[in-house]
Amino acid sequence: MRAVVYVENGRFEVRERSKPEVVDPGDAVVRVTTASICTSDLHIRAGAVPRAVPGITVGHEFVGVVESVGSGVERFLPGDRVAVNVETFCGHCFFCRRGWVNNCTDPSGGWAMGCRIDGGQAGYVRVPYADNGLTHIPDYVSDEQALFTGDLLSTGYWAADIGEVSEGDTVAIIGAGPTGLCTAMCVRAKNPARIVMVDVLEERLDFARAHGLADDTVLVPDQDPVEFIRSVTDGRGADVVMEVAGGKDTFQTAWRIARPNAIVVVVAMYGEPQMLPLPDMYGKNLVFKTGGVDASHCQDIMDLISDGSIDPSVLVTHRFDFDHIMDAYELFAEHRDGVMKVAVRISDP
Ligand SMILES: [Zn+2]
Ligand SMILES: [Zn+2]
Repeated sequence: MRAVVYVENGRFEVRERSKPEVVDPGDAVVRVTTASICTSDLHIRAGAVPRAVPGITVGHEFVGVVESVGSGVERFLPGDRVAVNVETFCGHCFFCRRGWVNNCTDPSGGWAMGCRIDGGQAGYVRVPYADNGLTHIPDYVSDEQALFTGDLLSTGYWAADIGEVSEGDTVAIIGAGPTGLCTAMCVRAKNPARIVMVDVLEERLDFARAHGLADDTVLVPDQDPVEFIRSVTDGRGADVVMEVAGGKDTFQTAWRIARPNAIVVVVAMYGEPQMLPLPDMYGKNLVFKTGGVDASHCQDIMDLISDGSIDPSVLVTHRFDFDHIMDAYELFAEHRDGVMKVAVRISDP
């Protein structure tokens, strides 16, 4: 089978690999039908993910069809269409029992697939703890609708959850890229009064508005987000802030646009340490929550997709076949052509 392999820092290549097999009783082997490319894949390629192991097959956003299962797998059978979770988790350690699966203490726990163990930009993939890591896709949900369940949407769902978004809130989301938009989808499902998206790229804000994922948008630096948010909240500030951008000043923007006693969720990954100017914040009584996603709500997400509450397939702006997956990488890496997300057809569903 073909697979996209992390050869060394700066280099991914399509190579011939042997088809994976069930190793542990909890494993499933999944035939990959559609895969996407995540910004984290680009980070691996750039050598910015130290725990990524050279020689592994990359890819952690994909869906497929179960090919075979180990003797311990109870919830899945060959032929089932499935979405695959970015995180591997045992389900019974201290952290898993509390839903904090990102910190599962299993040696392959957390984000392992396509990083420390072989991932899904390949014909087939072995999924450990398949009962935890797979989610059934109903017949009437397409591959592209289900594609982001295990990673981007899990992140958005988790952010909306720990942000404690409730009805009537004004929620500010900084960063209107794919993760910000998935966050907006999951926030919207909680019926806030208003979603305000903040970004430096007008086309991304246009996209958010066009798909009903933002009620208002703030284009930085032309508009001042602090002023705008105050103007729509009687001077209070946002009830919940999602910092999804990870830009130079976006952490500062995040706490400044928050109202007193707000929750500020930091989803973004920063390249550099951030300043926490406590004297300036004093009296604002903010709560900060930071991530790594705990991707433990895939079934809830699939329910939102299947009842029509959200349609994540709008994020797919470009489609490729496996022969052209490296072209997809270049397009995505260079942000060409208004690309939001790519879908790569690996095999027929
Ligand atoms: Zn990812
Ligand atoms: Zn665990």
